[in-house]
Amino acid sequence: MSDSRFDRRTLLKTAVASLVALPCASLVRRAEADELPHLSEQDSLAVAMGYVHDAHKVDPNKTPQYKPGSFCHNCVQLTGKEGDTWRPCNLFPGKTVNKDGWCKVWVIKPGAKPG
Ligand code: SF4
Repeated sequence: MSDSRFDRRTLLKTAVASLVALPCASLVRRAEADELPHLSEQDSLAVAMGYVHDAHKVDPNKTPQYKPGSFCHNCVQLTGKEGDTWRPCNLFPGKTVNKDGWCKVWVIKPGAKPG
Protein backbone atom coordinates (compact mmCIF):
# COMPACT_ATOMS: atom_id res chain seq x y z
CA MET A 1 0.00 0.00 0.00
CA SER A 2 2.74 2.48 0.87
CA ASP A 3 4.56 1.53 -2.34
CA SER A 4 1.42 2.39 -4.29
CA ARG A 5 1.19 5.83 -2.60
CA PHE A 6 4.88 6.41 -3.22
CA ASP A 7 4.37 5.61 -6.91
CA ARG A 8 1.43 8.01 -7.12
CA ARG A 9 3.43 10.70 -5.32
CA THR A 10 6.40 10.18 -7.65
CA LEU A 11 4.10 10.24 -10.66
CA LEU A 12 2.46 13.46 -9.43
CA LYS A 13 5.84 15.13 -8.81
CA THR A 14 7.07 14.09 -12.25
CA ALA A 15 3.90 15.42 -13.89
CA VAL A 16 4.18 18.77 -12.05
CA ALA A 17 7.88 19.05 -12.90
CA SER A 18 7.08 18.37 -16.57
CA LEU A 19 4.35 21.01 -16.60
CA VAL A 20 6.82 23.57 -15.21
CA ALA A 21 9.72 22.49 -17.43
CA LEU A 22 7.91 22.64 -20.79
CA PRO A 23 7.08 26.38 -20.75
CA CYS A 24 10.57 27.12 -19.36
CA ALA A 25 12.22 25.22 -22.22
CA SER A 26 10.01 27.09 -24.68
CA LEU A 27 11.03 30.44 -23.16
CA VAL A 28 14.71 29.47 -23.33
CA ARG A 29 14.39 28.53 -27.03
CA ARG A 30 12.52 31.80 -27.70
CA ALA A 31 15.20 33.81 -25.88
CA GLU A 32 17.93 32.02 -27.82
CA ALA A 33 16.26 32.83 -31.16
CA ASP A 34 15.81 36.47 -30.10
CA GLU A 35 19.50 36.71 -29.23
CA LEU A 36 20.80 35.26 -32.49
CA PRO A 37 22.24 37.80 -34.94
CA HIS A 38 20.53 38.41 -38.25
CA LEU A 39 22.23 36.74 -41.20
CA SER A 40 24.02 39.30 -43.36
CA GLU A 41 23.39 39.20 -47.10
CA GLN A 42 27.16 39.70 -47.39
CA ASP A 43 27.98 36.56 -45.35
CA SER A 44 30.03 34.26 -47.63
CA LEU A 45 27.62 31.32 -47.32
CA ALA A 46 24.64 33.66 -47.79
CA VAL A 47 26.23 35.00 -50.99
CA ALA A 48 26.94 31.47 -52.23
CA MET A 49 23.31 30.47 -51.55
CA GLY A 50 21.90 33.67 -53.04
CA TYR A 51 20.20 34.61 -49.75
CA VAL A 52 18.28 37.89 -49.66
CA HIS A 53 16.16 39.39 -46.87
CA ASP A 54 13.34 40.14 -49.32
CA ALA A 55 12.43 37.46 -51.87
CA HIS A 56 10.72 40.09 -54.03
CA LYS A 57 14.20 41.39 -54.90
CA VAL A 58 15.26 38.11 -56.54
CA ASP A 59 15.67 38.49 -60.30
CA PRO A 60 14.20 35.30 -61.84
CA ASN A 61 16.19 35.94 -65.01
CA LYS A 62 19.46 35.73 -63.07
CA THR A 63 18.27 33.10 -60.61
CA PRO A 64 16.30 30.38 -62.43
CA GLN A 65 15.92 28.36 -59.19
CA TYR A 66 13.61 31.06 -57.83
CA LYS A 67 9.90 30.30 -57.97
CA PRO A 68 7.44 33.15 -57.35
CA GLY A 69 5.76 32.74 -53.98
CA SER A 70 8.75 31.06 -52.36
CA PHE A 71 9.86 32.62 -49.07
CA CYS A 72 11.71 31.50 -45.98
CA HIS A 73 8.38 31.36 -44.13
CA ASN A 74 7.17 28.53 -46.38
CA CYS A 75 10.52 26.70 -46.54
CA VAL A 76 11.06 23.39 -44.77
CA GLN A 77 14.40 24.62 -43.36
CA LEU A 78 12.94 27.46 -41.27
CA THR A 79 12.49 26.81 -37.56
CA GLY A 80 11.50 28.97 -34.61
CA LYS A 81 8.19 30.56 -33.77
CA GLU A 82 5.55 31.03 -36.43
CA GLY A 83 4.91 34.73 -36.96
CA ASP A 84 8.36 35.98 -35.86
CA THR A 85 10.06 38.15 -38.48
CA TRP A 86 13.57 36.76 -37.81
CA ARG A 87 13.82 33.02 -37.29
CA PRO A 88 16.54 30.35 -37.24
CA CYS A 89 17.26 28.37 -40.42
CA ASN A 90 18.89 24.94 -40.46
CA LEU A 91 21.19 26.09 -43.26
CA PHE A 92 22.65 29.01 -41.30
CA PRO A 93 23.23 27.81 -37.73
CA GLY A 94 23.69 30.53 -35.13
CA LYS A 95 21.92 33.16 -37.26
CA THR A 96 18.36 34.15 -38.03
CA VAL A 97 16.90 34.81 -41.47
CA ASN A 98 14.02 37.05 -42.46
CA LYS A 99 10.70 35.24 -42.88
CA ASP A 100 10.26 37.05 -46.21
CA GLY A 101 13.74 36.10 -47.41
CA TRP A 102 14.82 33.40 -49.82
CA CYS A 103 17.84 31.36 -50.92
CA LYS A 104 18.66 28.73 -53.56
CA VAL A 105 18.13 25.88 -51.08
CA TRP A 106 14.44 26.74 -50.68
CA VAL A 107 12.19 23.65 -50.49
CA ILE A 108 8.51 24.04 -49.74
CA LYS A 109 7.43 23.03 -46.26
CA PRO A 110 5.00 20.08 -46.32
CA GLY A 111 1.46 21.40 -46.26
CA ALA A 112 2.51 24.97 -47.13
CA LYS A 113 1.42 26.84 -50.23
CA PRO A 114 3.71 29.20 -52.14
CA GLY A 115 2.85 32.80 -51.48
S1 SF4 B 1 17.03 27.37 -46.57
FE1 SF4 B 1 14.92 28.11 -46.66
S2 SF4 B 1 14.58 29.18 -44.72
FE2 SF4 B 1 16.80 28.96 -44.98
S3 SF4 B 1 17.45 30.86 -45.97
FE3 SF4 B 1 17.07 29.37 -47.60
S4 SF4 B 1 14.92 29.72 -48.21
FE4 SF4 B 1 15.23 30.72 -46.22
